[in-house]
Amino acid sequence: MSTTVDLRSDTVTQPTRAMREAMMAAPLGDDVFGDDPSVQALQERIAAITGKEAALFMASGTQSNLCAMLAHCGRGDEYIVGQNAHTYRYEGGGAAVLGSIQPQPLAQNAVGQMQLADIEAAIKPDDPHFARTRLLCLENTWNGHPMPESYLDQATAAARAHGLATHLDGARVFNAAVAAGGDPYAAVRRIVDRFDSVSVCFSKGLGAPVGSALCGSRELVDRALRWRKMLGGGMRQSGLLAAAAHHALDHHVHRLADDHALAQRLAQGLAGIPGLSIRSAQTNIVFVDVADGRGPDLLAHLAQDGVLATGLIGLRFVTHLDVDAQGIDRTIASVRAFFARGDAAQPAGQASRPDVY
Ligand SMILES: *Cc1c(COP(=O)(O)O)cnc(C)c1O
Repeated sequence: MSTTVDLRSDTVTQPTRAMREAMMAAPLGDDVFGDDPSVQALQERIAAITGKEAALFMASGTQSNLCAMLAHCGRGDEYIVGQNAHTYRYEGGGAAVLGSIQPQPLAQNAVGQMQLADIEAAIKPDDPHFARTRLLCLENTWNGHPMPESYLDQATAAARAHGLATHLDGARVFNAAVAAGGDPYAAVRRIVDRFDSVSVCFSKGLGAPVGSALCGSRELVDRALRWRKMLGGGMRQSGLLAAAAHHALDHHVHRLADDHALAQRLAQGLAGIPGLSIRSAQTNIVFVDVADGRGPDLLAHLAQDGVLATGLIGLRFVTHLDVDAQGIDRTIASVRAFFARGDAAQPAGQASRPDVY
């Protein structure tokens, strides 16, 4: 079998040779002393791209979102967040566990939006019965879906009208920006302009091995710096990693369009196969629903053909720097072969198991 086609996530990419060379060449210092020039330069650069006063390099998106919530909210405060948002569902409940910040999760529609009326109804009056509602947290892209800018306008305006701060989990905001068309750097700036803070990941579609950044006002970032240290995120010669992020910003932003095209190629190749339906195919993520509880069987079949994906009922395929059209075509052929085989054996009990992210 030829090489594995790993579509589990856009986090699986290997740093390119050029990226490794950029890392090797990076000037380094001790960033806890604030004197790593590569980290300093990256922070200034991503702050400028996002149009914020300051930025802080983080070990992960989870750390970045957590530091944001800790910087925005205090003990007994509350943040409003989507029921299926990463910050609420997939980050171990960190804001509650480590920050004594109460989440107020709200239902999201099929494209990840909370209803504005639900957001407004969830904002609690200033009364000792209630937690203090402080922050609205949105995510863009969500499951690959770019949020319409009109929705971002309305949701952040509603939050602001009630005195709430706003944070964007923009792990894949560069995908949203590329999907918007035009200059992606200008689009990122426009998308995040409405938010007090934004977290961006370098380690997803941008292809860096490690790293995220939290961007916001100088004051917010100073508070986040204290939390980052407390969380063990004060790194030393981290310019090595910042250099990879620099390289990603130089070379891997426009090419996200290639990932989006490959996701469309996959969706088109899978369309119309009986037993399988495309739930969504936006930016670099394709979700398919598999009938009759055959999702786990299909995953196992794909793995035998050297194709990796995630999920149970709904399968998730993510395109990235390390997959090409040939890999996508192999994936399509493997899925077709599975359904052509036709044995509808249904593993007992699988159909009711929850999706995993
Ligand atoms: C991956 C991801 C994160 C967290 O990033 P890690 O670096 O894995 O901690 C946060 N939000 C979203 C939407 C993500 O996809």
